[in-house]
Amino acid sequence: MQRVHNFSAGPAALPESVLQDAQAELLDYRGCGMSILEMSHRSHAFSEVIQDAENTLRRLVGIPSNYHVLFLQGGATLQFAGVPMNLMRTGRAGYIVSGNFARLAWQEARKYGEAEALSSSEETGFDRIPDLAPAAERAAAGDLDYVYICQNNTIFGTMFSTLPDCGATPLVADVSSCFLSMPLDVERYGLIYAGAQKNAGPAGVTVVIVRDDLLGEGPALACCPSYMSYRTQADKDSMMNTPNTFGIYLCGKVFRWVENEGGLAAMEKRNRQKAKTLYDLLDRSEIFVPTAQPESRSISNVTFRCATPELDEAFISGARERGIEGIKGHRLVGGMRASIYNAVSQASVDALAAYMQEFEESRRS
Ligand code: PLP
Repeated sequence: MQRVHNFSAGPAALPESVLQDAQAELLDYRGCGMSILEMSHRSHAFSEVIQDAENTLRRLVGIPSNYHVLFLQGGATLQFAGVPMNLMRTGRAGYIVSGNFARLAWQEARKYGEAEALSSSEETGFDRIPDLAPAAERAAAGDLDYVYICQNNTIFGTMFSTLPDCGATPLVADVSSCFLSMPLDVERYGLIYAGAQKNAGPAGVTVVIVRDDLLGEGPALACCPSYMSYRTQADKDSMMNTPNTFGIYLCGKVFRWVENEGGLAAMEKRNRQKAKTLYDLLDRSEIFVPTAQPESRSISNVTFRCATPELDEAFISGARERGIEGIKGHRLVGGMRASIYNAVSQASVDALAAYMQEFEESRRS
């Protein structure tokens, strides 16, 4: 069996040991005589699985007891609506528009209330994190239900290196592509959510971490579907209906893997080293151009391009011949993107870096 170097943006590489473990248990989950895929979500065995996943995540991230952990479905995209429906109590929120997913979340929120764009980097092609000062100023005025950010911009390869100072205004963050990539100070946020399919597990699970006082008696808007009520989901332990049992099971295994590998500080160290390998090479290159401004660079998604789309194509097809997959940039921006999530090893990054050097030399000679 030959596994490729997988740089996909999500669904993305999972730790091999997690997949092997799941495979070993697939037909007979711990002597139950059936697969975890085949058993009731109300069974004792599955109750243990979801409880263990939550407990491990709480330990790993350091989630305080006044925050709920929810395992929901509908992707990160459903949270674009879930956040305003639950939290827009006075009908006004502020959005920092730092990329495509932040813009989509902002547009979705405008269906439910007054969603202000506090700052945006659209004018410069989302190559940087926008100015945070307007968010701090607006938050200080005290009339926003929340300030919203997308902490790592998967498509444009940028991430927030500092958070906006929101004072008492709750900060809401889509952390889909940086969740578990580094330590997270949960108390800085009112709500955090992440689609699992990058660092936390398979597609089909969205982790929501939300502070209890924001839930009130229920959602801000009466039109909120019961499924999307954070209050209901918290009261029902994410099981008001059938959850993604297999997905949650795999997430639990990934959380344990991260913990056994040394936790979030260890992940950050590795991810920074992997990112450095690529950015150092890009900064020296005469053929590749990094697309994110240095002060805004992501340690999860490294974006770059060549001088022409034809060269990009040649690079991507050569990569495939060398067992390097998932390197094509998002269709909105073209070029290349190396997603270097937790399960992508330094050895895979070194293989990509070696190919980049080889490609550059071949074009020079
Ligand atoms: N937010 C971010 C930061 C993402 O990277 C993505 C998908 O890649 C989404 C939201 C949308 O996620 P989903 O496809 O799970 O709805």
